[in-house]
Amino acid sequence: MKYVDEFRDAALGRVLAGEIIAAVEPGRHVKIMEVCGGHTHSIYKYGVDDLLPENVELVHGPGCPVCVIPMGRVDDGIAIARHEGVILTCFGDMMRVPGSTGTLLEAKAAGADVRMVYSPLDALRIAKANPDREVVFFAIGFETTAPSTALTLKRARAEDVANFSCFCNHVTIVPPLRALLDSPDLRLDGFIGPGHVCTVVGARPLEFICADYAKPVVVSGFEPVDILQSVQMILHQLREGRSEVENQYKRVVPYEGNGRALEIMAEVFALRPHFEWRGLGFISHSGLKLSDAYADLDAERRFDVPGVRVADPKACQCGEVLKGVIKPYECKVFGSACTPERPIGTCMVSSEGACAAYYNYGRFARERVVV
Ligand code: SF4
Repeated sequence: MKYVDEFRDAALGRVLAGEIIAAVEPGRHVKIMEVCGGHTHSIYKYGVDDLLPENVELVHGPGCPVCVIPMGRVDDGIAIARHEGVILTCFGDMMRVPGSTGTLLEAKAAGADVRMVYSPLDALRIAKANPDREVVFFAIGFETTAPSTALTLKRARAEDVANFSCFCNHVTIVPPLRALLDSPDLRLDGFIGPGHVCTVVGARPLEFICADYAKPVVVSGFEPVDILQSVQMILHQLREGRSEVENQYKRVVPYEGNGRALEIMAEVFALRPHFEWRGLGFISHSGLKLSDAYADLDAERRFDVPGVRVADPKACQCGEVLKGVIKPYECKVFGSACTPERPIGTCMVSSEGACAAYYNYGRFARERVVV
């Protein structure tokens, strides 16, 4: 299969692993953050971590869209779902994210009409099929998924679907990265850039990491060879004293991004002054709401929502995991009180969460096996 098989080539992976060992400076411990949860899952699924030398450490970042939704927003979603006549639609893993009084799945079991969809267009279809009901789409995700929500809202407007609205929880990638880089408890040497987000925004918005913090960034694809090559490229930059944004994922990511997608987002969304992230607190200008032009399709204006901030459970260390400060297995409840079946935090729920990656692929391998 073109563009997949060649990026899973084991022999090429071993060559790159050898080049990584040769590129890392002796005596130096290098910490590289992969921002995106999709990378974290590839790393553990394919055993990329085991091919790296002891002194090259991968830590996981805040790029999982489900993981960052705070309890208060889940509670708001449940409150909307409980309104008379509402059908609340959302992606599957969002249904299992814990709020303070339970999950959307539990709300569904208790009688609320909560339905899983694969895309916002599915939600719009449900609205057209149920003109006597109010259909709300619980939108989540970074710039990767925001354009599809924007396009759906434009279509709802064009087709005059009056019973459709959006509970907008889209977030943007740059503000949390800046917050991480400003945080004193994390020392990072470089970043594996989020390939999916960059298909929309391009690689250019990550240039601040090099300009303001002098760290190398390599935007990466999601196959094991992509990730190994990105690590090798970061190590070469470090060795040569460079800090630049390089694009390993050129086959998909245009450096300047997708102009049409950015245009649609700018029309439909506006920045919120603040948005709360689970475990990370409030981050300025990090969340999107519907723009004034689309205010009539905003579920937060159409329905009463509590809008209350709810603290994470005491045992939950998702914030530290999302900042790369601890590894998932260092959380006290990992694999005991918190499992994919009964999650306490979000990182165990999401198909992109770091705790789910460790639980599914590496829970017995806490010591690195060096090959
Ligand atoms: S084990 Fe559970 S509570 Fe701990 S960080 Fe992971 S998801 Fe959060």
